[in-house]
Amino acid sequence: MPEPNYAVELTAPDIEPYRAGNTGIEYVTSFDSNAPGPNVVVTALTHGNEICGAIALDKLFRAGLRPRQGQLTLAFDNVAAHRNFSPELPTASRFVDEDFNRLWSPATLDGPRRSTELERARALRPIIDAADFLLDIHSMQHATAPLMLAGTLDKSLALARRVGIPELIMCDAGHAAGPRMRDYGGFGDPASPKTALLIEAGQHWERRAAEVATDVLLRFLIALGTLAREDAEPLAGPDFDAHPKQRVIEVTEAITITGDNFEFVQGFRGLEMLSPKGTLIGRDNGREVRTPYDDCVLIMPSRRFVKGQTAVRLGRYVE
Ligand SMILES: [Zn+2]
Repeated sequence: MPEPNYAVELTAPDIEPYRAGNTGIEYVTSFDSNAPGPNVVVTALTHGNEICGAIALDKLFRAGLRPRQGQLTLAFDNVAAHRNFSPELPTASRFVDEDFNRLWSPATLDGPRRSTELERARALRPIIDAADFLLDIHSMQHATAPLMLAGTLDKSLALARRVGIPELIMCDAGHAAGPRMRDYGGFGDPASPKTALLIEAGQHWERRAAEVATDVLLRFLIALGTLAREDAEPLAGPDFDAHPKQRVIEVTEAITITGDNFEFVQGFRGLEMLSPKGTLIGRDNGREVRTPYDDCVLIMPSRRFVKGQTAVRLGRYVE
């Protein structure tokens, strides 16, 4: 199956000016308003080749914006992977040793295993532990509509609605390969007020992804009272004032690859809606993978078929 090749329209910003930071952790900068309010953390480059988030953070830094209340902490996560980014081979720099966003359980973080990503996750952990709110900015392999990943808890769905964009909100439990940062600690605990969102802003290297990332970031900060609307307005893009009727996709399952030979029957890109129930979508070591219900929505089909990793998630519109 021929893979679509996406042009690299975005240019990765120089993040070296942010290396020193002011927190004692490289590439982490925290601003304190000295007024009561939430500690809001925004992270980019959780995957080293997803540069739209780095562009959004760079814009925020350059604008010199400071929090009106509470603290605002800005972090570039998997910098080691990002150092290997090149527009000629843009898929190769997602991570160095393993996926940074599958390590976020105390057992893994406290465990004996070592890797480039685990060391970075351990270094960043105090920042994430201290966050009241987290926005983690990502992008996708295929060009589809942006998705806000709100996890399974009502508090995150409510925050996604307050942010108001993008149109599609996905409620999902993550991946069999390990928990994401957005699911870690209090973020995944219904009894905790801590709340996290993950934005998939668009295809990794399309110009549009940086616009979406920036507007989602600004609206997230306005929703939490960190910025006032007039602070953010000079950085606003095409979605800053958009008010789409948001729709919610409930993810019912993730198809995890069990063997060494996985294939889709078509070049799915994501958000296809398949009917009837039982439609063949792929083969996992020869075993047929079929849709479990009518109007089944495919979410973020992978282009990398690795045993133990997610091939695609399946869901349905619930509103
Ligand atoms: Zn990502």
